[in-house]
Amino acid sequence: MTVTEPFLREQGFESTAFFYNPNIHPWREWKHRLDTLGEWVSRTGTPLVVDDSYPLEENVSMLVGSEPRCAACFSDRLSRAACKAVECGCESFSTTLMLSPYADHPLLRAAGEEASARTGVPFVYIDLRHLYGMSVRLSRAAGLYRQPYCGCIFSERDRFARGRPGRASPGASS
Ligand code: SF4
Repeated sequence: MTVTEPFLREQGFESTAFFYNPNIHPWREWKHRLDTLGEWVSRTGTPLVVDDSYPLEENVSMLVGSEPRCAACFSDRLSRAACKAVECGCESFSTTLMLSPYADHPLLRAAGEEASARTGVPFVYIDLRHLYGMSVRLSRAAGLYRQPYCGCIFSERDRFARGRPGRASPGASS
């Protein structure tokens, strides 16, 4: 949000932040990220819509049964964002994941375009990976919590037990 929202504003978009991601485990991590986003939007004045549903069993089953796992995760999150955009009367939807150098961008883009085709709301995709370093600097300077792994329990294992950098998403889900 420290970079994505200002960037989109410069492109002429007026943003509403949407938080939804039951693939952040455990629940306290999910709450910490939500609180961080709440703190940030309280400083910027960006409207925030929260979907706090957390169907843990259902979502872990979905991830276990999907290959690649991130395709199902992106699809779930971007479908929810697209539906919320329809509900809120937004003209388009996007995702802060566009900033992440760890996300699989072709998968991300495909999930957004599928959600767009189902709902009729345009998906805005701009590759913002070159701004990732700036987002790290800005969020640190602002004293914001930075997530140490992407979100799901599998990414937490990969980050800490296997020592992989992990697919860190940059903050809010969508
Ligand atoms: S690594 Fe991240 S994007 Fe992939 S399934 Fe886990 S939470 Fe979702």
